[in-house]
Amino acid sequence: MLEIKNLHVQLEEEDKQILKGVDLKIGAGEVHAIMGPNGSGKSTLSYVLSGKDGYEVTDGSATLEDVDLLDMDPEERAAAGLFLAFQYPVEIPGVGNMTFLRTAVNAQRKSRGEEEMSAGDFLKEVRARAKDLKIDADMLKRPVNVGFSGGEKKRNEILQMAMLAPKMCVLDETDSGLDVDAMKLVSEGVNALRSEGRSFLVITHYQRLLDHIKPDVVHIMANGRIIKTGGPELALEVENNGYADILAEVS
Ligand code: ADP
Ligand code: MG
Ligand code: MG
Repeated sequence: MLEIKNLHVQLEEEDKQILKGVDLKIGAGEVHAIMGPNGSGKSTLSYVLSGKDGYEVTDGSATLEDVDLLDMDPEERAAAGLFLAFQYPVEIPGVGNMTFLRTAVNAQRKSRGEEEMSAGDFLKEVRARAKDLKIDADMLKRPVNVGFSGGEKKRNEILQMAMLAPKMCVLDETDSGLDVDAMKLVSEGVNALRSEGRSFLVITHYQRLLDHIKPDVVHIMANGRIIKTGGPELALEVENNGYADILAEVS
């Protein structure tokens, strides 16, 4: 599904190398987690995958189902099936949540050469999904994320994910101070959307999140590289011993 090879990234503004050769391969239907100390480049990796400005890829590649992602603008990446959820969802005053979702869904369909969803079909779909996710109908009408609680933002993010039906979901939950309830929402949302054709990359500080999500593969990132890969037991090792042992092991 997602294949990252030898990815090197530096800041555009200053000559600072942040990713120093990231290799990562995620198969269809797999859930991978990335953990790692603060400042190791985890968020940078998700930003680069999203196509955010300010980062320059100096070497390596990232492909989604063998198609070059780094060549696409962010909208094309979304149309290709990539979804990114960030720590701090943007608020869009004046734009109703439902309108925003419909625009996003139709933009995706359009760039895939598909017909727009009719207003009626969209309404049916979004109501069904919202009900599955226990989202209040009222939240669909409010401006996007404005005045939403942390939990509501998380729910909304999962709703966006459900509506866009992506193939590859990247969630950066690092440093977000997810409380227990929000963590539960995220993990339930991910688990509900897990399927054979959909893969996840979950970036997190919290071993606890991985108790609920149960990743197939856990990677440890440090200093711009993935330094260790293993199963869920690796997350427990980090929980119990911190990163020091793993860092010492590879240095
Ligand atoms: P993580 O998510 O693992 O905590 P980040 O990707 O946020 O790590 O950051 C990796 C390193 O790159 C840090 O040293 C951070 O200060 C630096 N960095 C990332 N983005 C920028 C930026 N826009 N300007 C300056 N430094 C940055
Ligand atoms: Mg950080
Ligand atoms: Mg981060």
